[in-house]
Amino acid sequence: MSSLMSADGGVPDARCTLCGKSAVGPCARCRALVCADCCELTEGGVKTFALCTTCVERGGASMKAAWRDLLGRLTVIILALLAVAAALVLLRK
Ligand SMILES: [Zn+2]
Ligand SMILES: [Zn+2]
Repeated sequence: MSSLMSADGGVPDARCTLCGKSAVGPCARCRALVCADCCELTEGGVKTFALCTTCVERGGASMKAAWRDLLGRLTVIILALLAVAAALVLLRK
């Protein structure tokens, strides 16, 4: 992992964008370089992501939160469709 990062042509003394300590890698969402203190590891299915604390605060700590959000929206759409269908059935009688 660390060998991959240095082979990436990255700056050897890259600094954390949040606190200025030496960075360990980029945030999975905004690509900002962060140190170990300023990122949170997140399970995202097969992979583990590191998100900077800014992105954690903005978008929730995990990809699961995004899924919950999507599922919530789908539920609302399905309920609305069911309501329309029910109204049509009632009107037909
Ligand atoms: Zn930091
Ligand atoms: Zn970020």
